[in-house]
Amino acid sequence: MCGIVAYVGYREAYPVILKGLKRLEYRGYDSAGVSLLDHNGLQVYKKKGKVAQLEETLVGQALPATIGIGHTRWATHGEPSDRNAHPHRSASGRLAMIHNGIIENYAQLKKELQNKGYIFHSDTDTEVLLNFIEDIREKNECGLEEAVRIALKRVTGAYVIVLLDQENPGTLIAARKGSPLVIGIGKNEHFLASDASPIIEYTKEVVYVNDYELAILKEDELILKNLGNEKLTPYIQKLDLELAAIEKGGYDHFMLKEIFEQPHTIYDCLRGRLDAKSGQIVMRGVDNHIEALSKAERILMVACGTSWHAGLVAEYIFEELCRIPVEVEYASEFRYRNPVIHPGDIIMAISQSGETADTLVAIEKAKEQDAMIFGILNVVGSSIARASHAGAYTHAGPEIGVASTKAFTAQLTVLTMVALRIAYAKGTISQERYLHLLNELEQVPAKVETALKTEEQIREIAARYADARNMLYLGRGYNFPVALEGALKLKEISYIHAEGYPAAEMKHGPIALVDETLPVVFVATRDSYHEKIVSNIQEIKARKGKVVAIVTEGDELIRSLADETIELPACDELIAPIVNVIPLQLLAYHIGVQKGLDVDKPRNLAKSVTVE
Ligand code: GLU
Repeated sequence: MCGIVAYVGYREAYPVILKGLKRLEYRGYDSAGVSLLDHNGLQVYKKKGKVAQLEETLVGQALPATIGIGHTRWATHGEPSDRNAHPHRSASGRLAMIHNGIIENYAQLKKELQNKGYIFHSDTDTEVLLNFIEDIREKNECGLEEAVRIALKRVTGAYVIVLLDQENPGTLIAARKGSPLVIGIGKNEHFLASDASPIIEYTKEVVYVNDYELAILKEDELILKNLGNEKLTPYIQKLDLELAAIEKGGYDHFMLKEIFEQPHTIYDCLRGRLDAKSGQIVMRGVDNHIEALSKAERILMVACGTSWHAGLVAEYIFEELCRIPVEVEYASEFRYRNPVIHPGDIIMAISQSGETADTLVAIEKAKEQDAMIFGILNVVGSSIARASHAGAYTHAGPEIGVASTKAFTAQLTVLTMVALRIAYAKGTISQERYLHLLNELEQVPAKVETALKTEEQIREIAARYADARNMLYLGRGYNFPVALEGALKLKEISYIHAEGYPAAEMKHGPIALVDETLPVVFVATRDSYHEKIVSNIQEIKARKGKVVAIVTEGDELIRSLADETIELPACDELIAPIVNVIPLQLLAYHIGVQKGLDVDKPRNLAKSVTVE
């Protein structure tokens, strides 16, 4: 994770970097720092805490440099503190460096350097790599670029690094492996960043740097090389992103803005792909591979966090509609197991950022065993997109709130369309059900719009339950993964311990937790399990638990049982998760706000998890 910004050109670098760091803060917010190079030499300013705290310490200071680097950290090695904040300085003071990722063999390199007399001023792996580069440069009497190349050949792990060199005042050197890096190309200026958000207001021309590539940037020159020192031709792409998409647009928080964007993002996801009237789903990534997808012996959904929950919903959908067995895997477990992968298996990699390190490595491993990789991703051109054989983008737009909301509902929408398309090709769905589900999908944006109208009621419920210490989330069938996602949202945003469970499984353990202090959220909209879940609600009420029930409009039976009832429009059970998760997102948001927490940047978390 961590956000990286660098600039070289004719403008003052500090304001460009500062603004960029604020946009990238969703990636990490343990500390922030900048290094600037001007006629007075190399300066480093850094501070524990958010970017605003760094900004405060620099108010009123003249910072005329036109080259600089900046970093907002998500600590992996060493606690969040001033001394562990980036940029780090080399032992000689000549170099400054920022780093995103983990150097896995740092301990061994550190020992070697300590034996040579190096003293370290931080606990980070970053400072080790920086001094390792410096040591190589001094020992070999070579240029910095050459030293970086040699050093990176000995390094294991993931990184984006950007270096400033006092002796080469107009040049930035950057390299990447396993973490994202974008170059922005302006007129007599260049930008570097972890994603395009710090760049778009200056230029729309970008180059995505690939693994094992080195970029040497000057005001008026961009050189791209591989680690073998061969020059590469930069592939310049046009950004399809507007500034408004990454700003709050009048909402108090990005999370709330993104929750309310969902009718649009789901519509964008369906647009041009689904036409209920003609009974068609057109998805190029699926159409071009329909034979392999239809013949799949098995589908493995590989994902982490919220995306893993999308995979669980998809398991129910694919098995029902396509009659293909599905397994849902945590990428972090899958990659270290010795998984059985057969020819003909399809791996569906689900990730908002497309940079999730665990998922990326998991699919690389599956590729070695000849599996076909199908990516369900939000960020166009991301690492997983490039590593996949085929896929479908979710088109949810940039998601900045750390807890995923609109990306989740877009993932569900795409996965449902993919399943329908395959089921249709295989003939495992009747024409009538197929057309019915297409119609239902088309109505989702309007139903989500209606679901958002529950906000006021949910704000009141949130006020009543904000002091809870624990909460249970229960659901059955398609609503079981929705319960898991609701519990995860609450944990992330409000720091209340919450557990999601299949409602029927509750009696095998968690029911022991129930007493008059325990709020239990039931996702109990009308579906084939309805009578059963009504019994589960009775079981909780019999033990004096407090029941918050998400129900279908007009469900008087559950209204008579539950303490709180939130009504949603009726949906086919297969589509319902996309609508049912909306009140759970709002509940987590409002409890977090009630508790005065930073809902966009919850503690210890970061978006786009690019470390293992
Ligand atoms: N491993 C480095 C550190 O702990 C970089 C972490 C990051 O990507 O923010 O400082």
